[in-house]
Amino acid sequence: MSTYSIGIDIGGTNTDIGIVRDDGAIVRRDNLPTDRYDTAETYMEAIAGQIQRMLDATHLTTVQGIGIGAPNGNHQTVRIEANTANLRIKTPIPLGDFLTEQFGVPVRLDNDANAAAVGEMVYGGARGMKHFIMLTLGTGVGSGIVVEGRLLHGSHGMAGELGHAIVSPDGRACSCGRNGCLETYASARGICQNYREALRKVQPTANEPEGLTCRFVGESALRGDPVAMEAYDTTARWLGLALANAVAFSEPEAIFLMGGPTRAGEALMRPLRKYFEDNLLFLYKGKVQVLLSQLPQNDAAILGAAALGTAW
Ligand SMILES: [Zn+2]
Repeated sequence: MSTYSIGIDIGGTNTDIGIVRDDGAIVRRDNLPTDRYDTAETYMEAIAGQIQRMLDATHLTTVQGIGIGAPNGNHQTVRIEANTANLRIKTPIPLGDFLTEQFGVPVRLDNDANAAAVGEMVYGGARGMKHFIMLTLGTGVGSGIVVEGRLLHGSHGMAGELGHAIVSPDGRACSCGRNGCLETYASARGICQNYREALRKVQPTANEPEGLTCRFVGESALRGDPVAMEAYDTTARWLGLALANAVAFSEPEAIFLMGGPTRAGEALMRPLRKYFEDNLLFLYKGKVQVLLSQLPQNDAAILGAAALGTAW
């Protein structure tokens, strides 16, 4: 008999909720506007009400568990901590305790990148793997590190900030206040910056395309546009270096990448594999795969959250 879990993906604008079967099929999905709620209480009640309606509609009486992927999500306290940058509610949101009380099932909560890693392990390409790294490329660069089949959380739950590994000490200014973090070259914004610099090299007087987006750079790279390909080559160079260093630390079987910038596919992956291998210590050469996530892009966040709610 199939089992089910509930995945909740919390973003600043939307809260997506899905009921997910153990084979990874999303049998029901709904969402509510995160930014419409002023207080943690009204927000949590809205989520619980929505879950109950979804359970009723699917004639499910119970689920294995509930998983939540959230910015600033703390897996130890099972809540979203105070003053989360892009959330309107600034007090802590103790969703774990609240939903456990409402539904009587285990509730796990973690940050989005850790949820993505568990999603890949339960439903995606990391099934059966005990050592891998998930890298999420987007507005920022997040990472989830799995060692011995468990997420690495660190002493304060802050492990896995590979986006802020410094790859170039004299490099670009990062939002964290330091210079040359991986994120400044491999996030969506970083890729746009790579594009601007590459364009300036070939056409010093050229105007930047209006409303330059990472999606535009990715699509141009896929069409073979040399400037966009160079922008991705720059990303691949820094990413390859950072990932080769990460391998020396946890010796994963594979490194997975997900997020908008990976839509460029081979325009990113081909140079990335090359730079990665070039930088690897001889012990690891040819032994670590660099792969795209096998979760469907639009479902990845819900599947990741739902995976946290399973007995992985
Ligand atoms: Zn940084």
